[in-house]
Amino acid sequence: MPCSNHTQCAPTALAHAEAVCLARGARLTAIRRAVLAEIWADHEATKAYELISRLSREGNPIKPPTIYRALDFLLAHGLIHRIESLNAFVGCSHPDAPHQAIMLICDQCGIIHEQSSEDLNALLGGIAHRQQFTTCQQSIELHGLCFDCQGSAPQSSV
Ligand SMILES: [Zn+2]
Ligand SMILES: [Zn+2]
Ligand SMILES: [Zn+2]
Repeated sequence: MPCSNHTQCAPTALAHAEAVCLARGARLTAIRRAVLAEIWADHEATKAYELISRLSREGNPIKPPTIYRALDFLLAHGLIHRIESLNAFVGCSHPDAPHQAIMLICDQCGIIHEQSSEDLNALLGGIAHRQQFTTCQQSIELHGLCFDCQGSAPQSSV
């Protein structure tokens, strides 16, 4: 499990995001905060259309560009990561410093565990360098089963 107490981890992440934005002079507007809070509702990947439907209110639908602009802001500040293989987003709990994330994605329960490895980054940097290749975007996503799901039979009913 990425966290043992999500009732604490989500508010901590949001407070952390506010502090990071404040320090950078960036504005975490109401809609940006709402999108971030919705993404932090769990440790699973959240798709843009889910955000649109969850944040829309009766008689007050949220327009997709509003959500996409908020996602762009959150991505630019490292507050969330894009999961390329799922075309979805997950919150980052350490947005202070730029980092390359390694995403361990459980295909059964959907939980995503973020890791990073300086060794792997150096290795990839070396491979690109040997080809005189400049990397603009790096995404490492591993699909499989998390520790909890390995013990349960695949697709078992709960
Ligand atoms: Zn949590
Ligand atoms: Zn991260
Ligand atoms: Zn799992």
